[in-house]
Amino acid sequence: MIKAKKSLGQNFLIDPIILNKIVELVNIKNKAVLEIGPGTGNLTDYILKKKPKKLIVIEKDNFLAFNLQSKFNEQINIINKDVLEINELLLCEEKLIVFGNLPYNISTEILSKWVTNINNKFWFDTLILMFQKEVADRIIAKFNTPNYGRLSILSNWKLNIKKILDVDPESFSPKPKIKSTILLFVPKNNFHKIKDPKNLEKITRIFFSHRRKMLKKPFNQVFNGDQKILEKLNFNLNMRPQNLDYETYYKLAQEYEKLTS
Ligand code: SAM
Repeated sequence: MIKAKKSLGQNFLIDPIILNKIVELVNIKNKAVLEIGPGTGNLTDYILKKKPKKLIVIEKDNFLAFNLQSKFNEQINIINKDVLEINELLLCEEKLIVFGNLPYNISTEILSKWVTNINNKFWFDTLILMFQKEVADRIIAKFNTPNYGRLSILSNWKLNIKKILDVDPESFSPKPKIKSTILLFVPKNNFHKIKDPKNLEKITRIFFSHRRKMLKKPFNQVFNGDQKILEKLNFNLNMRPQNLDYETYYKLAQEYEKLTS
C-alpha cells in the first residue's frame, strides 16, 4: 500500500469509468504521448492499452518513479524530475498528446508555463488535463461572469478549451475534499501576437488589481488616458475589468508593446 504525499498533491484516480473516458477522448494509437505525474500508474496502464508509439512520463516522487520503472520496464520513458523544470521542447521530435491528473498545488503554474513558453511552435497537439473544479471554472470563464480574470485571459490566448466533465471526489484515493474537472486544450491556428507574455501578465495584473473598481485608474496608469486607444478598442472607463473580453486584453498588451518599444 502506497502512502500518498499531500505535499505532492497525490490523489490517485481509481475510477475505471473515468480512466477509460480520458483515454477515449483522442486517438493515441501510434502517437507520442506524455503523462505528467503518473503516480501509481493507473492512467499509465490505460494509455498503454491504446498502443501509443511512445510514452514519456514525468514524475517528481523518487519512490513512485522507481515503482513505475519496475512495473512498466521499457514500455515507458521515465523522467524523475519536477515538471516545472523541464524544457518540453527537448522531449520529443514529434508533437505530443499530453495527459495529466495534475498536482493541484501547481496546476495553474504548469498551464501558465506552457502558454507562455510557446512561441510560434507548439510542442503538443492536445492537452487533456484534470484540475480542481474551481480552477477549471476560472480557466474557461467568459467575460462578464464572476470567475473571469487573469487565468481565463492567459489560458484562452493561444488555446481552444473544451470542458469534458466534472469528476467526483469518490473517483480518487485518497478522496480530495473538492470536485475536479477534465479540460481538453488544442492550439489555436491564429492568435494575437504579443512579443513578451510578461506584458499580457502585467496589463491583466494592473487592470484586475481592483476587480470592482472602474477602469479609469488602471487605464490612466498604463496608457496615460490615451483616447485613441479607447476608441480603437471600443470601451469606456466606466466599465470594470471583467467587462472587457479576452481579445481586448490581447490588444491592450499589443498597444502597451507599441508604447514601450
Ligand atoms: N496520475 C496519477 C493518477 O491519476 O492516479 C496521479 C495524479 S496525482 C493528482 C499528481 C501526481 O503528480 C503525483 O504522482 C505526484 O507525485 C506528481 N507530482 C507532484 N508534483 C510534481 C512535479 N512538480 N513534477 C512532476 N510530478 C509531480
